[in-house]
Amino acid sequence: MKIIVLPGDGIGPETMAATEEVLQTANKRFDLSLELEHDIAGHTSLQKYGSTVTSALLEKVRAADGLMLGPMSTYDFKDESKGEINPSKYFRKSLDLYANIRPARTYQGLTNKVGPFDLIVVRENTEGFYADRNVESGSSEMLITPDVVISLRRITRLCCERIARASFELAQTRRKKITIVHKANVLKIADGMFIDICKTVGQEYPDVQIDDFIVDAMMAHVVRTPDKFDVIVTTNMFGDILSDLTSELSGSLGLAGSLNAGTHYAMGQAAHGSAPDIAGRDVANPMSLILSAGMLLGWCGQQKKSPKLLEASRAIDRAAEQVIREGQVTRDVGGNLGTQAAGMALAKSLQTV
Ligand code: NAD
Repeated sequence: MKIIVLPGDGIGPETMAATEEVLQTANKRFDLSLELEHDIAGHTSLQKYGSTVTSALLEKVRAADGLMLGPMSTYDFKDESKGEINPSKYFRKSLDLYANIRPARTYQGLTNKVGPFDLIVVRENTEGFYADRNVESGSSEMLITPDVVISLRRITRLCCERIARASFELAQTRRKKITIVHKANVLKIADGMFIDICKTVGQEYPDVQIDDFIVDAMMAHVVRTPDKFDVIVTTNMFGDILSDLTSELSGSLGLAGSLNAGTHYAMGQAAHGSAPDIAGRDVANPMSLILSAGMLLGWCGQQKKSPKLLEASRAIDRAAEQVIREGQVTRDVGGNLGTQAAGMALAKSLQTV
């Protein structure tokens, strides 16, 4: 069972080191025969190979069982012709990782401003308002004149259908409620189609209750009554924004895991970015990346029908609950541990929890 590990930029290396500590502990305790193979992407790869990602790396990832991608300084990567490719987009698009699953929940031991909740944002990951995911090659942002830019948003029936189905499948394993988030009052054709398809797919899941909210109003609803939501399905950019909000509402942007999943491949990746403002100071919260690694083990467990992997994934969640309850966490969530110590604490808890 091989996982390719790409530490990334900014806080990537330190949060990935903490995550590896946890994965190695899971490996020992649950006898996973896990092999972590390191490689590089982002700035280190740009310096070494002249490109943030390489096709050789992609082939390596395709041959492995999963990928852990550290946060990348994507904002720095502006010109693909100079090798500055967004690694997130590269893997999401090349591996067709169409479902970005972003759970956010509150924990005992952490105060939060909005009360307890437990929800999952399911974000379409391969099209939408993302210039780098809408055309076969190149960008779908165009400079028409020096003062006029056009950005295209692509929405397709196939992508709507598969993200809807992934969401209903997930809802069936939870509290059986789906909320469709859209902007169909303005984006009438595209988001109208998104809602219609979600509701049509929903007819195959009669036990799942469906409602829908316009994305702007949703920001108020999710802050006011986050406990009303179970699985939220939405298009790419709305999901990106909404999931940062739900993660922060749960306590910190550094707290929520994120899995990018397709039919054949999956990639664990923290929901947050490379946080250059705190990089290299041993203060970043490794929890988001650790929980993402746990989600990746869970996905591999389902693919391989492996009880050991599934149990390892659940145990990482339980260990996270324990260290948070005991306050063995980083400063952003009220603790006083550094990144490395927080990873060690979780790994220690994982030995017995
Ligand atoms: P960010 O998510 O990196 O940081 C936003 C804020 O949250 C900062 O104050 C940061 O210190 C804090 N934060 C983030 N992660 C944290 C953690 N684990 N623990 C504690 N605090 C944490 O967003 P940004 O500053 O807008 O972006 C920085 C870079 O990351 C940019 O280049 C951006 O393009 C990139 N980015 C990458 C990804 C990705 O790789 N998936 C996602 C978002 C942003």
